[in-house]
Amino acid sequence: KRIAVVQDVSVSYKSGTFAVEHISFDLAVGRTRALVGESGAGKTTIAKVISGQLAPTLGSVLIEGQDLAKAHGRRKRGILSHMGYVFQDSGSALNPRKTVAWSIAEPMSVQGGFSEAERRARVLELLDQVELPADVADRFPHQLSGGQRQRVGIARALSLNPSLLIADEPTSSLDVTVQRRVLDLLRRLQQEHGFACLFITHDLGIVQEVSDVITVLRHGRIVESGATDRVLNDP
Ligand code: ADP
Ligand code: ADP
Repeated sequence: KRIAVVQDVSVSYKSGTFAVEHISFDLAVGRTRALVGESGAGKTTIAKVISGQLAPTLGSVLIEGQDLAKAHGRRKRGILSHMGYVFQDSGSALNPRKTVAWSIAEPMSVQGGFSEAERRARVLELLDQVELPADVADRFPHQLSGGQRQRVGIARALSLNPSLLIADEPTSSLDVTVQRRVLDLLRRLQQEHGFACLFITHDLGIVQEVSDVITVLRHGRIVESGATDRVLNDP
């Protein structure tokens, strides 16, 4: 099942030049697509279009069949509530004055409809899923390691049980051993939750183990797209 469909998307920030052109791919349940390319290739632009922060100049993005650029207000927020976002600095972007529990629960508080007890129970469940002890709930970000903070960022991204997770360089601020463990965690969480994942990275070394399919961008255009094994082993 396709959760997101990117259809012939082009984006220009200023008239005359396109940052990305003719981008098409889909994101399927339980699958990870790696979006790779050098800095400036257009990865972040695509992530912003899929997450509704930027409207495509041409083309469209369908999330569970709904055209994101045509949705506004409550309906747009409804579509976006099915999406989680993890980025390089998710951990360091946590509010330093708030507890871990507050940060993980914030998407639930904003959406509404959860009692205090339900939010607390969900926070503890999520901490368990990202392999952090329950007492982390009442700590503050500065009391955690970088890897622990990034796990909190992941827990927060999963708090509304998204059908799509956008992971934009989620491990590039972590050292290598911590990076490995967070990648393993993401893969295991996907097996349990079944979300579709767009994994953005410039690091070809980790693509093979995290992704089923890969799309390679160069100067805003797709230069290769297909099964990860085939694309990486193509001479
Ligand atoms: P990254 O490779 O991590 O995406 P970039 O250097 O491409 O980083 O961009 C960093 C930030 O600066 C992004 O938020 C991007 O939107 C913005 N940015 C990049 N290029 C330009 C530009 N030419 N004019 C204005 N903002 C830009
Ligand atoms: P990546 O994430 O792969 O590094 P980006 O999507 O950030 O690439 O950038 C793609 C292209 O769009 C680059 O040429 C960049 O300079 C340009 N760009 C990105 N953000 C902006 C912006 N806000 N304004 C103008 N140009 C931008």
